[in-house]
Amino acid sequence: MNKIAQIFQSLDYGPAPEGPDQAIAWLDAHDRKFGHFIDGKWTKPGKTFSSDNPATGESLAQITDGTAEDVNAAVKAARAAFKGWSALSGYERGKYLYAIARAVQKHARLFAVLETMDNGKPIRESRDIDIPLVARHFYHHAGWAQHLNREFPDAVPYGVCGQIIPWNFPLLMLAWKIAPALAAGNTVILKPAEFTSLTALLFAEICERVGLPKGVVNIVTGEGGTGQAITAHEGIDKIAFTGSTDVGKAIRAVTAGSGKGLSLELGGKSPYIVFEDADIDSAIEGLIDAIWFNQGQVCCAGSRLLVQESIEERFITKLKKRMQTLRVGDPLDKSIDIGAMIAPIQVERIKDLMKRGIAEGAEVYEPDGQMPARGCFLKPALVTNVSPANTLVAEEIFGPILVAMSFRTPEEAVQLANNTKYGLAATVWSENINLALDIAPQIKAGVVWINGTNNFDAAVGFGGYKESGYGREGGREGMSAYLKPAWEKDLKPAPAPKIAAAKATNPLDSGHLDQTAKMYIGGKQSRPDSGYSRAVYDPSGKLVGEVGDGNRKDIRNAVEAARAALGWSTTAAHSRAQILYFLAENLDYRRDEFADRIKAQTGENGVEEVALSVERLFAFAGWADKYDGAVHNPPLRAVAAAMVEPLGVMGIVAPPSRPLLGSIALIAPALAMGNPVVLVPSAQSPLSVTDLYQVIETSDVPKGVINIVTGDSVSLAKTLAEHDGVDGLWYAGDAESSAMVEKVSITNLKQTWTSRGLYYDLADRRFEGDYFLAKATQVKNVWIPYGA
Ligand code: NDP
Repeated sequence: MNKIAQIFQSLDYGPAPEGPDQAIAWLDAHDRKFGHFIDGKWTKPGKTFSSDNPATGESLAQITDGTAEDVNAAVKAARAAFKGWSALSGYERGKYLYAIARAVQKHARLFAVLETMDNGKPIRESRDIDIPLVARHFYHHAGWAQHLNREFPDAVPYGVCGQIIPWNFPLLMLAWKIAPALAAGNTVILKPAEFTSLTALLFAEICERVGLPKGVVNIVTGEGGTGQAITAHEGIDKIAFTGSTDVGKAIRAVTAGSGKGLSLELGGKSPYIVFEDADIDSAIEGLIDAIWFNQGQVCCAGSRLLVQESIEERFITKLKKRMQTLRVGDPLDKSIDIGAMIAPIQVERIKDLMKRGIAEGAEVYEPDGQMPARGCFLKPALVTNVSPANTLVAEEIFGPILVAMSFRTPEEAVQLANNTKYGLAATVWSENINLALDIAPQIKAGVVWINGTNNFDAAVGFGGYKESGYGREGGREGMSAYLKPAWEKDLKPAPAPKIAAAKATNPLDSGHLDQTAKMYIGGKQSRPDSGYSRAVYDPSGKLVGEVGDGNRKDIRNAVEAARAALGWSTTAAHSRAQILYFLAENLDYRRDEFADRIKAQTGENGVEEVALSVERLFAFAGWADKYDGAVHNPPLRAVAAAMVEPLGVMGIVAPPSRPLLGSIALIAPALAMGNPVVLVPSAQSPLSVTDLYQVIETSDVPKGVINIVTGDSVSLAKTLAEHDGVDGLWYAGDAESSAMVEKVSITNLKQTWTSRGLYYDLADRRFEGDYFLAKATQVKNVWIPYGA
């Protein structure tokens, strides 16, 4: 063989080291000791910890561990800066973002080298992926700043945002957080991860150099405790977090009831599905990138290979051969594929997980390649002979470890892919576009890459389903995560529900047969599990009727029925619209009867409420086939289809007031978007909803799509919040139980909306549009490459 052919075979090439001189000069210029960047000034270093180069173990600099006082000072500065920053025109704010983008580009090499030294990632990645994406993010958001008022006319910024980021993409995660926050007019306090603060500090210097108004960006370094001081701080209006699911859940619990905005971008265990008709060589190269990008320390790493049985042997053989050519070593060497792990503690964690997996039967393959003599390195590994229950399949490893399993049919591939508590990303390889586009919507994940992997762009939202979190970063969805409706600040406390004192009556006096309204579960009327009923009184205390007193078991049955009806989400939007129109029509047909019932329960004239309920059903029938996605054109040979998908099963606990509209206004958007619902109507006046059974039955609503459980709103809301089969929960009630709902929702990180004791006048037409539609949906971006 001649030499060139040999080189192609062996992929053997010499080292190409990148010089660290500039980065070292920058560190030395700061005496390798840093304080925080607060209110446009550098604080004196306080108690410090060392930031080390994981490839060498050498200390790079001393970083200040932020205290509660530091966080206080940063919040004060950000609050003071908010007024001026949010009052700037979008054009002015955009110009600052543009200047930051330019400066990042100008100093790209310094940023890339510093990032690689601090984090251990190959310079190839920091130079060609992280830093260019950072600049792209600021450019993109400069545009959003300028067009904000036109594109989000009724929205205002949250105010002061607390942002906490991890160590795996230090500067990129900073950009994903700071760019949209600033574009929307917020000011920020950002805490980088303890292991990787340096590029955030360099970024602070860039903010200084471009003349960003003081206090708009504050960088407070520190450990987990500094993060806790941020999440608990009362002066912060929104928390944006990227990191582990455990800490994400802790943050949800801490912020419950505070009214703070929250977006969580958490862990993953993303499937990488290879069908038998895939271009195998491309799929192997994609897989190398999917799992060994950044040493596998990537939330969306394609860490679970699912390969079709018919090609499994061939694929695994090729993969092992390719793994032999992977180079582990000095991250500053441009010819290195796999750099250093973040820290010894992470290596130990992974080794422990491996031991557990092996004890459970896993087999491990590692290539022979040489390993560096010192530093924090791990060999890439392929794990086979595992069942879905193996620790290495179930847990997020966050390292260079790929687990492989096989499947026989597309259905089995989808089942295995979704067999995880996470839902961040997925990859599908097939030359059959019909098959790939059939699989993508079935996978419960926020991003699906077809015949590619790890594509990211500022214009395309990124974020998770299920326990991978909520909220999106990038694109329109990412912007809306930093905005809230302008009218929210005018909401007044909801009046306490009028609870009539019951007049003493002998229960045996009713004189007629039992007329207790039943629950409605799975398309059938059913008696409450408890056998008990609740009396419904009018304002004078007169008995108007009785309903079942629902309990945990009724909720369980209703959720089961709703899950069995999840096919509603794939029912054509046109058909969902037709059914909502039909509901409206049948309700209108019986408007007098419903108006009378409202009057009987509340003493108020119900004519207008029934008319509004009919109109609201019409409104959301109209939305069913219109509130949909977009197609993005990122700067790659690909399109990204942003698909609007329902959350899944939704629990809806209606407010005490407006017995009919209170329920209709909330279930209509959920149903329009394809969510089966478990509805708990007003506890005081539930009869308007129990009267709906016949309307539902005559309107072609598939069984299980609307389930109704009557009873005590608070205890039923708690049961719904605890239930892992509920994907989204809306609760209209007092502040204390709203906080409870948010706190308990961490079980499976279901998405919640609560009214927090405020009065949302659901008759208002502002609730006829995207306010609830957005909360009933999540966006999945499906990346589809093109080009012959
Ligand atoms: P964490 O979730 O612990 O840390 C993420 C960020 O949150 C860091 O800035 C951290 O500070 C901060 N933090 C830690 N505890 C709290 C708290 N109670 N309140 C507020 N902020 C807090 O991730 P780790 O870095 O410890 O990594 C652990 C595991 O998390 C990894 O092995 C991996 O599985 C997963 N992970 C997932 C990421 C993702 O992108 N989805 C990213 C990073 C990790 P500090 O670093 O100083 O502790």
